[in-house]
This record gives sequence, C-alpha cells and structure tokens, in this order.
Amino acid sequence: MIVAFALASSLAVTVFALCQGIEPGHALLQGAAPAVLAAAGWKAPAGRRLRASLTSVALMAAAAMAVHTSGTIEAHFLFFIMVPVVALYEDWTPLAASAAVVFAHHGILGIVAPRHLYNHPAALQDPLTWGLIHGALFLAICVTSILHWTIHERARAEETVLLDRLASQARHDPLTGLANRTLLHERLRAARDASVQRGEPLLVLSVDIDGFKPVNDSYGHAAGDALLLELARRIQACTRSGDTAARTGGDEFTLLLPGSGAGVAAGMARRIMDAVAEPVQVAGKELRMTASVGIALGSGSGSRAEKIEDLLEWADQAMYAAKRAGRGRYVMYDGLPSSDAEWTLPVRPGQARSWAAYTRTLRDAIASAKRQGSLPQQTRGPETARRTLESLLAAIDQLPAAADPVGMLLPERTALQEFVFHHELVQQWTDSLTRQGIISVPRPTEATAFWQALRRTVTDPESGNAAGTGTVGATTAIS
Ligand code: GH3
Ligand code: MG
Repeated sequence: MIVAFALASSLAVTVFALCQGIEPGHALLQGAAPAVLAAAGWKAPAGRRLRASLTSVALMAAAAMAVHTSGTIEAHFLFFIMVPVVALYEDWTPLAASAAVVFAHHGILGIVAPRHLYNHPAALQDPLTWGLIHGALFLAICVTSILHWTIHERARAEETVLLDRLASQARHDPLTGLANRTLLHERLRAARDASVQRGEPLLVLSVDIDGFKPVNDSYGHAAGDALLLELARRIQACTRSGDTAARTGGDEFTLLLPGSGAGVAAGMARRIMDAVAEPVQVAGKELRMTASVGIALGSGSGSRAEKIEDLLEWADQAMYAAKRAGRGRYVMYDGLPSSDAEWTLPVRPGQARSWAAYTRTLRDAIASAKRQGSLPQQTRGPETARRTLESLLAAIDQLPAAADPVGMLLPERTALQEFVFHHELVQQWTDSLTRQGIISVPRPTEATAFWQALRRTVTDPESGNAAGTGTVGATTAIS
C-alpha cells in the first residue's frame, strides 16, 4: 500500500507539473524519478529494510519535486504528510533515509535556488542554517512518529499477553493449573478425530482421590487445597507430552492419552495410584492417600467412533466400580453399560494369573505368526470381547498374592457372556493351530481350571459352590 501511495504521488507530481504549465517532457521526468524509486522499493531483490528505504526516499522525492515545481513555502507540508506514511513501516531505517533526503534537498536547493524553499529574508540570507532548522524539525516529526509506534507496539504487546492470560485462565483450573473441563473437551474432540482418522485407540482415565473429605474436615480447607495441589502435580508428572491431565471436580481428575491402547492403560493406572500413594506432608502431618481409577478405551475404529461424552461416562462408571470394589484400585470399563450390582468370582489368584499369562502369550504368538505370514492378517475379534478381555486381565493384575481364593470383580454379565462365547471359538481355533504346529503355547492346567470356573459362572450361574474352591462362579453383589 505504501508503494502504491508512492506511485500515486509520483503521478500526482507529473499532473501538478503539467497544470503549472511545465513542459510535458520535464513534467514526466519529475514524476518518473520518484516512480522509479517506488518501483525499486516494490520489486528490488533486496531485504525489506532496503526496499522500505527506497519507497520512503520515493515519497520524499515526490514531495521535493512538488516543492520545486510550486515554488511556494506551503508545499513543505507535503514532507510532513509523508512522515506518518513512512512511519507505517515501524522501522528506523526508512525514517533515517527520509531525513537524509530532506537534509540533502534543503542543503542543495537552499543554496542553489533558495527562493524555491524560503519566503523570508533571514532564510534567504542564510539558507544553510535554515536548511538545518527545517531538517531538525523534520527529524523531530520522525521522532514523534517513532514514539507513537513504540507506545502502540508496547500497548499491543501488553494486550496480547493479557488476552493470552485470559484465554489460559478460561481453560485451566485456578488451584492446580491443570486443564479444566473446557480445555479437556477441546483436546478430547481433537484426539477423537485424530484417533478415528488414524485408526488409533484413545485412553481416558477418571481418577478420584479416596477419603479426601476427611482431610478437609480434620485439617481445614487450606490443607485440603495444599494436598490437591501436590496430588495434581504428581498426577501430571505421570503423563507424557501430548497427554492431558485435567481437574474435572473437587478431588477428581481426568486424563486423556491419545494414541494409547489397552496395553498402556493398566501401567498408567498403577503409576498414578503409586504416585498418589507416596506419603505427603500436609499441615505438619504425613498423610497417605489412595486413588480409584476408571479406564475407558476408545477403539479408534471409524465405524464405531465413540462419542467423547460416552468415553467420559465409561471412565466415570469404571471409577465408581473401583470405589465400590473397595477403593485404591483401577477398573477397566468393559464395553457395555454396567449393571448396578457388581459381581465377583471366587478365584485362586495363582490360577487366574496363570490364565492371564497364558492368554497374553497366546495373543503374542498369534500376532507374531501373522507378522511372519504363517497366519492371514485377519480382522480383529468383536469389540466387546476385546474390551472384556482387557477388563478381565486388569482385574486379575490386581488380585493379591494370596494362595486362598479371593473374590475377583467380574465384567458386566452380558459382556462376559459374549466374551466367553467368543473365547471358546478362539480356543478351538488356537488348539487346531497348535496341532498344525503353527503356534506352540502350552496351556497350563492352572489356566484351564480358571477358565472352566469362569465359563461355568457364565453358562451355568446356578451351579455355584461355596467360595473357596476357586472353581465356581457364585455371583455376589458387593457394595
Ligand atoms: P470418596 O472416597 O468416595 O471419593 O470420598 P471423598 O471423601 O474423597 O469425597 P468426595 O470425592 O465425594 O468429594 C470430594 C470433596 O472434596 C468434596 C469437597 O468437600 C472437597 N472439595 C471440592 N473442591 C475442593 C477444593 O477446591 N478444595 C478443597 N480443599 N476441597 C474441595
Ligand atoms: Mg474423592
């Protein structure tokens, strides 16, 4: 725009010269000089600073030509009109170049043809001094322009900082500095879209501190705040870059792990529980807290792109299931709405762990056979069965190291039934793969014992024996 203005000024100089009765060739030359400089400022293969200086010199040249043509002192105002235009570059160099032109113009023309510049006797007698006075005044205008833009620039910078701070406050929790619900939902939407696009899974963890209210009641709200701050710091420290840790309630946190699947979920939940469980000093006392964690896994499959509200709801449901199961543990959501009554299976931890280890080894062997081409790359099993398996493995991971039977929290009944039906078929298939020698994963007797107990629970729930045999599925509601 400044170059366009300079070109327009050059044209105006020519038109003005013609109107003043100057011979056309000469008039054209007067406009051509600033026009060439302006064109160089537009297209010259040089840096911005040099091009800005050329355009500024063009503007000053246009003003000088007009002064020269009119021969009146009033034409000097043109220089002053050009200064704010040059100041738009917000750079010292073009202003300095403009000042140099004014000094040169007044110095040379003041001596050669002072009547073109001045209209009072003092100036006509001493054109050099008056050239300096005019130049100094011009420089003063340049300085005020620079001040003008500097002050505005500072105000703009402060405004940007303020707006950034406001935007940040609107998206962060004031106590802990973690993301708030607004930012979490923004990140969730972006992560869900990316997960559907790339077919990657998406993990959401809901974390609630156990027994937090008594801390407030015993040590005061300020101590509760200090505890929340410390726990928030620890939870955040468990995340990687790209993850989001948000405070979504009083003592509730939600974590979003884009691109992470079931394999990461249990480890992450355990890391958070361990971080929360580290002793913490509050109001001069050492406290030991625990957290309940719910895990929801977004599949990332385009056809079953979960709504983000669903993922949050699932993670919450799983977290409440962890609370009901005794707190200080994690539960993985198993894919279907949970029934009110949780149910448990009495199992021997050793048998359950043996089945979990066998299942994981089998899964790895199948994946490896697929990679090596000895098995076709088939589509994955049903989503519900996959989730239920993860949920079962997670529940087994949390069993204590007891030798006696303990109650294991089971996934929702319908989901478990679907899983058992599907897994039976998988077992038959893997047995035949073993016979063909495609895979070789021995099934420990202990694993078989656990599987039979689980299957009987689902297919024949009435056949439950007393807890302690570790083989039967007596269904028990725990609250
Ligand atoms: P549960 O084991 O079932 O999770 O129970 P809880 O005692 O942890 O209590 P709950 O999660 O149901 O409620 C959280 C409490 O946190 C409720 C409220 O008194 C307290 N709280 C909520 N916001 C703040 C806060 O900003 N600062 C403090 N100090 N306390 C808060
Ligand atoms: Mg709580």
